[in-house]
Amino acid sequence: MKRENPCENNLVFDLAFLRLSNEIPVAQFCPWTKHHSPFSRRKNDVNAVCTKPFNEGDVLSAECDRGAFYFFSEEGNQKFLANIIMFNVIEKVGREMDHPINGQAIIDYIKELVSIPSPSGYTEEAIAYVASFMKENNVPFYINHKGGLVATLKGKDDTKHRMLTAHVDTLGAMVKEIKASGRLKLTAIGGFRWNTVEGEYCKIHSGNGKTYTGTILIHQTAAHVYKNMGEVKRNDENIEVRLDEAVKSKEDVEKLGISVGDFVSFEPRVEVTESGFIKSRHLDDKASVGILMYLIKVIQDRELTLPFTTHFLIANNEEIGYGGNSNIPEETVEYLAVDMGAIGDGQSTDEYSVSICAKDSSGPYHYKLRQHLVKLAKEHHIDYRVDIYPFYSSDASSAVRAGFDIVHGLIGPGIDASHAFERTHIRSIEHTARLIYHYLLSKMAGQ
Ligand SMILES: [Zn+2]
Repeated sequence: MKRENPCENNLVFDLAFLRLSNEIPVAQFCPWTKHHSPFSRRKNDVNAVCTKPFNEGDVLSAECDRGAFYFFSEEGNQKFLANIIMFNVIEKVGREMDHPINGQAIIDYIKELVSIPSPSGYTEEAIAYVASFMKENNVPFYINHKGGLVATLKGKDDTKHRMLTAHVDTLGAMVKEIKASGRLKLTAIGGFRWNTVEGEYCKIHSGNGKTYTGTILIHQTAAHVYKNMGEVKRNDENIEVRLDEAVKSKEDVEKLGISVGDFVSFEPRVEVTESGFIKSRHLDDKASVGILMYLIKVIQDRELTLPFTTHFLIANNEEIGYGGNSNIPEETVEYLAVDMGAIGDGQSTDEYSVSICAKDSSGPYHYKLRQHLVKLAKEHHIDYRVDIYPFYSSDASSAVRAGFDIVHGLIGPGIDASHAFERTHIRSIEHTARLIYHYLLSKMAGQ
């Protein structure tokens, strides 16, 4: 029985499946952390705490993350911390590490992204955030007339290109009318029902640059006044915004500078749980934008040259149907949309794997590209689900519709309760990132 250093192992082993003995001395200092932890930001964070007892012979998957050592339960849905401990490894049954993905770092990008209001039509700030990221990482990019961003990494082969897209625009609303009562009537931006935002806090982005807060309510919310509040239809007529301002009339509201046409964004309420879930509005599709940003950083930091020139289109009009259907260079052969996988009855997609779409409302995605993605997932031990999304279309299908002769595909993290109270797990984020990483380094599909 040899004493092993978990962090050092992690440099070699991805999800090192370590068979442990039950003898786990906690509270030991791990001298290697300072030098070898691959993602260590908090170099001296070596508080030794083990939050879960292990049994003799347990097989646990483990990961090193910024100097902390995490274990996953076998189902993969429980992540618990075993902050740098020394332990006795009986046997290593791990695989050689074949990717540099750190899910926690991706979640940091996602948290930033969801916190920037960006309903379709009002995406300048979110795009500016992505633009400053590209500048920091020395990636050439331009902003198209529609307001989307196209970044390019030159590859070994510049005659055939790839494009990947994800969208920063989200669901939202616009002020349709100011009521005599001082409440605001709304019109929806994107495809959702009012019941999914009822009770949600919102921001009103007035034309004069000021932002006001409010709450989205049905007019008949007060239980002590409206007997029928449960039966009232959640429609454009009954839904309204209660402004957090002392306003009693239309004129009072107008004096604030609020007017018809002002954008309204919904509070994301982002939260990351200890069990590894990220709960937030707008994970569709900011989870994917975060993944692409992270991968671009990895490529730049490691000075990798991709096999083909690859463009990243951060689209800003997907929720209204035409985000990524332009600015596709002529050389583009493959066009991959990275957008959420749909979870529900009869769906194979879940919150712990990457979803590969075979067909959605727009029809089948390119068969060869789908097969290529499945092959990569198998080769690299990536958890994936092939699925069909019944009410869905993507920027890849809208690009084909717009007349581009491309091989199109769609993959993404599985998002529960989409276009409503969204949630996914770090495992899904990581598996999606891993598949894209290997895809970026792969040959063209069918070659
Ligand atoms: Zn989407």
